[in-house]
Amino acid sequence: MNETPEKPAAAKKAVTKKATAKKAVAKKAAPAAGQAPARTTAAKKTTAKTAAKKTAAKKTAAKKTAAKKTAAKKTAAKKTAAKQAPAKKTPARKPESRVAMVRRARRINRELAELYPYAHPELDFTNPFELLVATVLSAQTTDLRVNQTTPRLFAVCPTPEDMAAIDPERLEELIRPTGFFRAKAKSLLGLSAALRDRFGGEVPGRLEDLVTLPGVGRKTANVVLGNAFGVPGITVDTHFGRLARRFGWTTAEDAEKVEADVAGIFPKSEWTMLSHRVVFHGRRVCHSRKPACGACAIAPLCPAYGEGETDPEKAKKLLKYELGGQPGQRLKPPADYPGQPAPPMAPPAAAS
Ligand code: SF4
Repeated sequence: MNETPEKPAAAKKAVTKKATAKKAVAKKAAPAAGQAPARTTAAKKTTAKTAAKKTAAKKTAAKKTAAKKTAAKKTAAKKTAAKQAPAKKTPARKPESRVAMVRRARRINRELAELYPYAHPELDFTNPFELLVATVLSAQTTDLRVNQTTPRLFAVCPTPEDMAAIDPERLEELIRPTGFFRAKAKSLLGLSAALRDRFGGEVPGRLEDLVTLPGVGRKTANVVLGNAFGVPGITVDTHFGRLARRFGWTTAEDAEKVEADVAGIFPKSEWTMLSHRVVFHGRRVCHSRKPACGACAIAPLCPAYGEGETDPEKAKKLLKYELGGQPGQRLKPPADYPGQPAPPMAPPAAAS
């Protein structure tokens, strides 16, 4: 018979099966509401985590920025407060009165006297003529070099008469190690002749006479007066001038002005020994370029403290002569000198 009626049923079944299959597919493709598919969930979770991290990072950054802002505000506030608050006053150094400076200067002199009880002129001499000649030779050179030169010179020319009569070239040769030997020879010949002709072969004991001699200025005259005649004098050489300025005793550069300023601070009786003490300190401790401030006994009294090395150990290494364990400048120092005598001039190297 006719199979027609059965066909719709089969078709229906087929349709149902198809629908079921579609639903199944649809179920797989679209899971139940509120339930994300596994992969998507993981992705979402990862995204959420990243977002959370980002948010956290943002929060941290924000916090940091806020902290920075707060710190900046605090600094600004402090600055403003500092500006507004009356500046903490570092007690401004009162300008030293004249009386205080004189008191301090005299104390420096006393301390230097304790430090160098053996202070003396650092030129070797046995009479006024030798001191005069040695002082003329000491220009532009060290006392040591003069002391190494004069034994031979004085052996040949012990008096003004001998020196005035010597052949100029021979004199130049004898004093050559002290430098500027031509000019110095001219001065020595002139002053020896003047002593012979005008002063009976004797060195005069007055400043006004001494400064009339060729090559003799105020400084040389004061050295001779102070050390050969016992007439008080202030000797302003390079060391004395430098220290007098560092001590605040003067601001002058000119030697005569320095002398006048210092003369107004100390009694006449102190002038000669004060000169020796100050020069001793300048040569041993208070050097021109590297003063040994950290090893300086008068540092508490010195306004220039700190101009040089302040570290005690490093400063100690800068000390010279007897304070540094080295020989002095005199070949024949006074008996009370605590250091070693200077060595004589080294003999010229033998020609090979
Ligand atoms: S403290 Fe320094 S500058 Fe002053 S006297 Fe001493 S070494 Fe010289």
